[in-house]
Amino acid sequence: MAVIVQKFGGTSLGNIESIKKVAKRVIKTKKAGHEVVVVLSAMAGETDKLISLAHEICENPDPRELDVLISTGEQVTVALFAILLNSLGYSAKSFLAHQVRIYTDNFHGRARIHDIDTQKIIKELRNGTIVVVAGFQGSNDQGDITTLGRGGSDTTAVAIAAALNANICEIYTDVEGVYTTDPDICPKARKLKRISYDEMLEMASLGAKVLQIRSVEFAKKYHVPIHVRSSFVEENGTMVIPEDKDMERVVVSGIAYDKDQARITITKVPDRPGIASKIFAPITGAGIVVDMILQNTSAYGFTDMTFTVPRNEFKKAMELVSVTAKEVGAEEVLGDEGIAKVSIVGVGMRSHAGIASKMFTTLADENINIMMISTSEIKISCVIDEKYTELAVRALHDAFGLDKPR
Ligand code: ADP
Ligand code: ASP
Ligand code: MG
Repeated sequence: MAVIVQKFGGTSLGNIESIKKVAKRVIKTKKAGHEVVVVLSAMAGETDKLISLAHEICENPDPRELDVLISTGEQVTVALFAILLNSLGYSAKSFLAHQVRIYTDNFHGRARIHDIDTQKIIKELRNGTIVVVAGFQGSNDQGDITTLGRGGSDTTAVAIAAALNANICEIYTDVEGVYTTDPDICPKARKLKRISYDEMLEMASLGAKVLQIRSVEFAKKYHVPIHVRSSFVEENGTMVIPEDKDMERVVVSGIAYDKDQARITITKVPDRPGIASKIFAPITGAGIVVDMILQNTSAYGFTDMTFTVPRNEFKKAMELVSVTAKEVGAEEVLGDEGIAKVSIVGVGMRSHAGIASKMFTTLADENINIMMISTSEIKISCVIDEKYTELAVRALHDAFGLDKPR
């Protein structure tokens, strides 16, 4: 008998028919003699709908209240699911985060789980009950509802699997696994049998939303094997596991893109010590994550600075930067929301030369201008005009031969 955590995403919970299909899968696992914890997202589109309702009232809803609101989608699915399982003759109980309980810090909208009390879950499992937990939500030290950031149900599932020392965490979604790139925009994308935690971390942080990045961090830290697979077909999907020697033979294993970025440029910034810290302190102080940063070499004591921020924080970042730019005597602040970041990822890049130039040539051959570049040991990212995202992804996928089975 194994302890198995099964997470189903909103795309698998679009309506009662789909929910019934999901229940069949859970029952099959239960019948095979396993203890099952089910983690559910909200029904497809529900969280978006709740967010836009709040925005109909005001631009910046109170974060505490917004979390109370957007966590309700998951309350609906877990209750429906338990009702369904019970009606089919299976003992099942739904739990919200504060009931389990899933403790988080206090950062509404992007809270981090720091502890899970597994007593209740274990007691129910030992009684033969299927435990159904609401994903995406947590509870802070004051008992307030928090949420874990978009796509956060993945993290709920992996964190519970880690806390229970489960045998596996299965992430069921609308694609058959982790692909070489998003199969939605690249028809030649190929399903990977296995991917290392590190590569998956990079893919997730660079925009592949199939797994939320925090879920992969948890999995890596607590050695939880993740199986990403389809809610609709039986076939095995992709195992996310520790790196092994076979994986190193592949130079580039995946391509990711991120359209949720925006670019800010400050021109003619006086080039003197302390300027960068003056410019970035208010932005990071407001909790805005700055991603890529580019600074030109100084000419006549002035320099240009360009950086990227998440697109939903663009307006706020522009306001803050405009104030500081004036203070430091810079010329002007320019913003561009129409950008995308395209990245190639692979642990094999560590020991191969020429990968970057192949990426740049491929983009140049398609007449795509590169605005910014950043590299790490296992990834290279380029910022380009958003309208060329699909073209860039497909061209790079071909150039690095990712459609060919290895
Ligand atoms: P869920 O509702 O199940 O959480 P998500 O929409 O969050 O589903 O994640 C699944 C989606 O991730 C897929 O439909 C696919 O378009 C997208 N995706 C992006 N990159 C990849 C990739 N490399 N492999 C698989 N899916 C990817
Ligand atoms: N329902 C939440 C969202 O849409 C969490 C999730 O789907 O994982 O982001
Ligand atoms: Mg998701």
